[in-house]
Amino acid sequence: MNNNKMVLKISAISENEHFARTVVGCFVLRLNPSVAQVSDIKTAVSEAVTNCIVHGYPNNPGEITIEAYIEKGNIHINIFDNGVGISNIEEALQPFYTTKGDEERSGMGFTIMQSFMDSVEVKSKLNEGTKIYMSKKIISDAV
Ligand code: ATP
Ligand code: MG
Repeated sequence: MNNNKMVLKISAISENEHFARTVVGCFVLRLNPSVAQVSDIKTAVSEAVTNCIVHGYPNNPGEITIEAYIEKGNIHINIFDNGVGISNIEEALQPFYTTKGDEERSGMGFTIMQSFMDSVEVKSKLNEGTKIYMSKKIISDAV
């Protein structure tokens, strides 16, 4: 089951958020995860995809690319947009930091991703887009 990969490209519209998290949730099933692990992964994907839709493409919806691959009992999930980018990543990662507080955003998306996944890395360039790299160990003794 090692070294298996999937790529999904979706339009950045809110109707696709549920689809994206379900696809990744199904993909990871081959590692025989617990219900809690699947739930954590789906939540992290949901937060990242929602960010692309809401923040990455505030005006017209572009494309979101979701890559997932399995390597030695770990699931790696990369979520990319080609949107507006983040000017200060360190600031954006702080709990309760949001640029859309007026729209009922709480600024907890990155904090949720970090708590539900083992690692979360963010790369971004203004006007070029944002890349989120996340991973989580599912099978601890996999070789
Ligand atoms: P919540 O996730 O709680 O609804 P939020 O989306 O504002 O609120 P985070 O997900 O933690 O909170 O994101 C923090 C901030 O980082 C956002 O307010 C936004 O300014 C910026 N950001 C996050 N993802 C992106 C992205 N893909 N493109 C551009 N900016 C982003
Ligand atoms: Mg968010």
